[in-house]
Amino acid sequence: MNIIRVPVLSTNYIWCLYNYKNECIIIDPGEATKVLDILKKFQFRLRAILLTHNHIDHVNGVAPLIQYFPKTIVYGPTETKNNGSHFLVSEGDDFVLLQKKFKVLNLPGHTPGHIGFYSAPWLFCGDTVFSAGCGKICIGFAQYMYESFLKIRYLPRNTLIFSGHEYTLSNVNFAISILPQDQSIINYRNKIIKLYKKKQPTVPTTLNLELKVNPFFRCGNSNIKKSLNLPCDLKEEWQVFSELRKKKDSF
Ligand SMILES: [Zn+2]
Repeated sequence: MNIIRVPVLSTNYIWCLYNYKNECIIIDPGEATKVLDILKKFQFRLRAILLTHNHIDHVNGVAPLIQYFPKTIVYGPTETKNNGSHFLVSEGDDFVLLQKKFKVLNLPGHTPGHIGFYSAPWLFCGDTVFSAGCGKICIGFAQYMYESFLKIRYLPRNTLIFSGHEYTLSNVNFAISILPQDQSIINYRNKIIKLYKKKQPTVPTTLNLELKVNPFFRCGNSNIKKSLNLPCDLKEEWQVFSELRKKKDSF
């Protein structure tokens, strides 16, 4: 199985997985035009669309793609029932596409019903984890988002994380404002700046790297608490996580 990154809108990535038979799966089509160009160029046959959540920049391409490929099956969480999903899936569900098994993970936080698709070693996590950062959290869902991060943290370290946006430079700048002495983050920022200068993508990332450079995976770190002026004995790690995301909102 191979993958093509399709950059659309200003920061979105649509992911196109394909096999040697030129069958493909599209993940989070926020628009259709560029996807259709790729399908035509490589003569791919669209078998399925996977949706992680119901935001317009992740689902807007579903209807036009279905018009061109009416046999396509759409999998998504319940919140995508009005966005063309044929199969509403949640944690515990799995299915086989292109001879690969996909497991559904519930990853609430960015939206209440957000899900991810895991097909080792690949994780399609929509707007949950970004490289060096975390998706925006809907009101009242900080603890859920923290628990979604915990779930991802215990996947194998070699997991490749395919996020829905390219936000890495802003995220790593924020990370360094929180942990200015952290050598892993400093090194990562230097690498990201070089990639941005060459207009190269920074996604996918790996879980192994994120555990080092993503402050949202490191909320037990006492320097993060200090940086946020939180009491050292604050026990609930999800509250640190929540404060960290609030700080990023105004960064
Ligand atoms: Zn979103």
